[in-house]
Amino acid sequence: MELKELNVVVIGAGIGGLAAGALLASKGALVTVLEAQEYPGGCAATFSRNGYRFDAGATIGCGFHSGGPMEILGRDLGIVWPASPEAVAWQYRHKAIHLDLAPDRFDIIKRFPHSKAFWSEQATLSKLLWSLSEGGLSWPAKGPRDLARLAGKALRGLPGTLHLLKYISSNVLDWLASHSLDTDSDFVRFIDSQLLISVQTTARHANAVNAAIALDLPVSGAYTIRGGIGAVADLLAASIVKNGGAVLYGKNVNRIDSVQRQVFGLETSDGSALAADIVLANLTPLSLARLAEDDIELPVTNIESKEWSAFVLYLGMDPELFTALSTNHIQVIGDGEELAEGNSIFVSASPTGETGRAPEGLCAVTVSTHTRPGQWFEARKSGEGAYTELKRCYTERVLDLFSLQFPSVREAVRSMTAATPLSWERYTGRVMGCVGGYPQTSLFKVRGPRTRFDNLFLVGDSIFPGQSLPGVVTGARRAVELVARQASKKRG
Ligand SMILES: Cc1cc2nc3c(=O)[nH]c(=O)nc-3n(C[C@H](O)[C@H](O)[C@H](O)COP(=O)(O)OP(=O)(O)OC[C@H]3O[C@@H](n4cnc5c(N)ncnc54)[C@H](O)[C@@H]3O)c2cc1C
Repeated sequence: MELKELNVVVIGAGIGGLAAGALLASKGALVTVLEAQEYPGGCAATFSRNGYRFDAGATIGCGFHSGGPMEILGRDLGIVWPASPEAVAWQYRHKAIHLDLAPDRFDIIKRFPHSKAFWSEQATLSKLLWSLSEGGLSWPAKGPRDLARLAGKALRGLPGTLHLLKYISSNVLDWLASHSLDTDSDFVRFIDSQLLISVQTTARHANAVNAAIALDLPVSGAYTIRGGIGAVADLLAASIVKNGGAVLYGKNVNRIDSVQRQVFGLETSDGSALAADIVLANLTPLSLARLAEDDIELPVTNIESKEWSAFVLYLGMDPELFTALSTNHIQVIGDGEELAEGNSIFVSASPTGETGRAPEGLCAVTVSTHTRPGQWFEARKSGEGAYTELKRCYTERVLDLFSLQFPSVREAVRSMTAATPLSWERYTGRVMGCVGGYPQTSLFKVRGPRTRFDNLFLVGDSIFPGQSLPGVVTGARRAVELVARQASKKRG
């Protein structure tokens, strides 16, 4: 790889931007990261508020298992993650069904014994997929070199790879039907709930291959990150600096300067201007289009977004509710037909005994639910009153559902802050506050890092394979591979 002295500017210090930046810096590139906020991490940051340290969005460390994307990244960069595996990934609660999701899937098999064959198939598939993704995935393929690389990996995985083929274009509901599980409404509800938080859609639409790896999380392992999930971003930023790069905060990039297909520089809202050989944009395609003043790709007035945003409550709480459980993470599912909009919530509490996350005797809790962003922007347009009322209504809805399983929740809450899609837009720069990545419905209609600019690549959860720490790290490796390819072509 010929990357030495390549001048790389990264827009955004989310996990995608930092991972790509850190890998390039470790190979000798001159990396500068420009981050609009005062700290790194974006959706996977940990922020301070009123004596608490809250995880902004992501709360579960995944991909840190041996051979997982985070573990390999740590090895490549010489980072020892402050990550420890949890015995139980999270507890699932729907009506009287309470399941601890653990590596042996004991509770799940006990409650749904007829699902055993399904899980065994899922395990075979995910094992193969984890090994295929080791060291990065050349997908979406661009040219014979990518196809040869994929074929090489697949051949090493044979005969498992052939087994995979039948799922490549199946949805999960068909897969469940092949095990006569599609008519068990409690099981489908369980699977839908797992898929919505991981592949951003439910069994009817989710691609089976994407789902196989997403459903593996409690087996491959959920990890607690000491200090909060934001410690991952801090360590990646430190790695860039250690390798001669810079991570600059309070630098909001507000303009990309280009001539035809070539970006030559960037401008920030405080008046700085930077030249770049390569730009990595840790942005959604819409946010990039807005920066590049690209009116072809800019439907910013479209409120019918197919992507999700999140409504999140940051609660300061008494920890008793959690100390009685075997995990700090709980997924609570309501009875309404749909799972989003407060009908399912994911609750994560800072570990008891971890100092620095909350005032003495309390814990920092993040509660999130999927929401469509359009209604929030409409409410805002109607005026402050309508927006405040919508926020109040969602707060009550979330607390009602939480209380359904834990009746004393309201009394345990000591402080509360709410984040809406507008907060997410303001905080992450993502147009419409669309967070969580794209719905993983097909392996063939995915976006790669390439853009209409020859020297600007996307990183982050808008590109394949999508959301989560291991997801964006895998995507970042693909961007690094393309940058290296371009650099060696130029020199050659
Ligand atoms: C509620 C919620 C819960 C989640 N739970 C989990 C979980 O438990 N486990 C997990 O692995 N994943 C989880 N995820 C997904 C995970 O957090 C994301 O997929 C991942 O963190 C996204 O990273 P990214 O690289 O796309 O960057 P982002 O997080 O979007 O970061 C982009 C960065 O770029 C900066 N930026 C944007 N525009 C500009 C600009 N113009 N100039 C300068 N800087 C700019 C932003 O400030 C931000 O810091 C969750 C996500 C959400 C929203």
